[in-house]
Amino acid sequence: MMIFQENEIPIPVRNDGKRSVEEYTYSDWKDKICEELNEVMTAESSDEKAEELCDIITVCTSFLEAIGYDLKGRKKLFRKINIKNDARGYFDHMYMGKTGRIAEDENA
Ligand SMILES: [Mg+2]
Repeated sequence: MMIFQENEIPIPVRNDGKRSVEEYTYSDWKDKICEELNEVMTAESSDEKAEELCDIITVCTSFLEAIGYDLKGRKKLFRKINIKNDARGYFDHMYMGKTGRIAEDENA
Protein backbone atom coordinates (compact mmCIF):
# COMPACT_ATOMS: atom_id res chain seq x y z
CA MET A 1 0.00 0.00 0.00
CA MET A 2 1.27 3.42 -0.98
CA ILE A 3 1.48 5.84 1.92
CA PHE A 4 0.98 9.47 0.96
CA GLN A 5 2.82 11.83 3.26
CA GLU A 6 1.71 15.05 1.59
CA ASN A 7 -1.85 16.29 1.70
CA GLU A 8 -1.25 18.90 -0.99
CA ILE A 9 -0.89 16.55 -3.94
CA PRO A 10 -3.72 14.73 -5.72
CA ILE A 11 -4.26 11.34 -4.15
CA PRO A 12 -5.85 8.72 -6.40
CA VAL A 13 -9.20 7.44 -5.20
CA ARG A 14 -9.78 3.70 -4.87
CA ASN A 15 -13.57 3.72 -5.02
CA ASP A 16 -16.44 6.12 -5.62
CA GLY A 17 -18.49 4.96 -2.67
CA LYS A 18 -20.31 2.40 -4.79
CA ARG A 19 -17.60 0.41 -6.51
CA SER A 20 -13.88 0.08 -6.99
CA VAL A 21 -12.32 2.20 -9.72
CA GLU A 22 -10.67 -1.03 -10.88
CA GLU A 23 -14.08 -1.88 -12.33
CA TYR A 24 -14.21 1.33 -14.37
CA THR A 25 -14.20 1.16 -18.14
CA TYR A 26 -12.67 3.93 -20.26
CA SER A 27 -16.22 5.14 -20.80
CA ASP A 28 -16.70 5.40 -17.01
CA TRP A 29 -13.54 7.51 -16.74
CA LYS A 30 -14.74 9.72 -19.58
CA ASP A 31 -18.09 10.17 -17.81
CA LYS A 32 -16.33 11.09 -14.55
CA ILE A 33 -14.13 13.67 -16.26
CA CYS A 34 -17.13 15.14 -18.12
CA GLU A 35 -19.17 15.23 -14.89
CA GLU A 36 -16.42 17.18 -13.14
CA LEU A 37 -15.93 19.46 -16.16
CA ASN A 38 -19.63 20.25 -16.10
CA GLU A 39 -19.30 21.14 -12.41
CA VAL A 40 -16.47 23.54 -13.30
CA MET A 41 -18.60 25.20 -15.96
CA THR A 42 -21.62 25.59 -13.66
CA ALA A 43 -19.70 26.71 -10.56
CA GLU A 44 -20.47 30.33 -9.80
CA SER A 45 -17.38 31.59 -8.04
CA SER A 46 -13.69 31.26 -8.87
CA ASP A 47 -13.16 29.38 -5.61
CA GLU A 48 -15.86 26.86 -6.57
CA LYS A 49 -14.37 26.51 -10.06
CA ALA A 50 -10.93 25.98 -8.55
CA GLU A 51 -12.24 23.20 -6.32
CA GLU A 52 -13.97 21.50 -9.24
CA LEU A 53 -10.79 21.78 -11.34
CA CYS A 54 -8.99 20.00 -8.50
CA ASP A 55 -11.67 17.31 -8.72
CA ILE A 56 -10.77 16.86 -12.41
CA ILE A 57 -7.10 16.58 -11.50
CA THR A 58 -8.00 13.96 -8.88
CA VAL A 59 -10.07 11.99 -11.41
CA CYS A 60 -7.20 12.13 -13.91
CA THR A 61 -4.73 11.11 -11.21
CA SER A 62 -6.97 8.18 -10.33
CA PHE A 63 -7.26 7.23 -14.00
CA LEU A 64 -3.48 7.37 -14.38
CA GLU A 65 -3.07 5.19 -11.28
CA ALA A 66 -5.62 2.72 -12.63
CA ILE A 67 -3.70 2.30 -15.89
CA GLY A 68 -0.41 1.73 -14.12
CA TYR A 69 1.11 5.11 -13.33
CA ASP A 70 1.91 5.21 -9.63
CA LEU A 71 3.22 8.39 -7.98
CA LYS A 72 6.76 7.79 -9.28
CA GLY A 73 5.41 7.09 -12.75
CA ARG A 74 3.22 10.20 -12.70
CA LYS A 75 6.15 12.38 -11.63
CA LYS A 76 8.25 10.95 -14.46
CA LEU A 77 5.39 11.56 -16.88
CA PHE A 78 4.90 15.16 -15.73
CA ARG A 79 8.62 15.80 -16.08
CA LYS A 80 8.33 14.60 -19.69
CA ILE A 81 5.30 16.81 -20.33
CA ASN A 82 6.96 19.85 -18.72
CA ILE A 83 10.10 19.36 -20.81
CA LYS A 84 7.94 19.09 -23.93
CA ASN A 85 6.00 22.24 -23.07
CA ASP A 86 9.20 24.07 -22.20
CA ALA A 87 10.71 23.14 -25.57
CA ARG A 88 7.60 24.47 -27.27
CA GLY A 89 8.04 27.80 -25.51
CA TYR A 90 4.80 27.49 -23.58
CA PHE A 91 6.29 28.85 -20.35
CA ASP A 92 6.89 32.51 -19.74
CA HIS A 93 7.96 31.56 -16.25
CA MET A 94 10.26 28.74 -15.42
CA TYR A 95 10.51 26.00 -12.90
CA MET A 96 14.23 25.54 -13.01
CA GLY A 97 16.25 22.58 -11.99
CA LYS A 98 19.92 22.79 -11.10
CA THR A 99 20.77 23.10 -14.79
CA GLY A 100 18.73 26.24 -15.22
CA ARG A 101 16.08 24.38 -17.15
CA ILE A 102 13.76 21.56 -16.28
CA ALA A 103 16.10 18.69 -15.59
CA GLU A 104 15.62 15.69 -17.87
CA ASP A 105 17.19 13.51 -15.22
CA GLU A 106 15.01 13.42 -12.13
CA ASN A 107 18.13 13.24 -9.95
CA ALA A 108 19.71 16.37 -11.49
MG1 LIG B 1 -16.78 17.92 -8.22
